[in-house]
Amino acid sequence: MPYPQTLHSDTATGILEIVWDDTHRQRLDIALLRRQCPCADCKSLRRQEINVAAPWRPSGIAEIRPVGAYAAQIIFSDGHDRGIFPWIYLRSLKQDP
Ligand SMILES: [Zn+2]
Repeated sequence: MPYPQTLHSDTATGILEIVWDDTHRQRLDIALLRRQCPCADCKSLRRQEINVAAPWRPSGIAEIRPVGAYAAQIIFSDGHDRGIFPWIYLRSLKQDP
């Protein structure tokens, strides 16, 4: 299982860049990442087809906290802090910005 070596969020560009230990470099749009938040609240909103990031601009990450060895808690600049992103989920995200 790949493990992230570095996570760097750039508020100016709105991009989260992850460098994995297998040298894969992944760039994720933070606004899209916010919409893909895996917490129960956001999943429920998505089921109701409510755009969870609609009232929130610009895109940013306030803090990234490690959760054990398997995930990161991403605290978005809109204050939303319930998203626990397992590495395997982050790695699987395919974005078409
Ligand atoms: Zn969420």
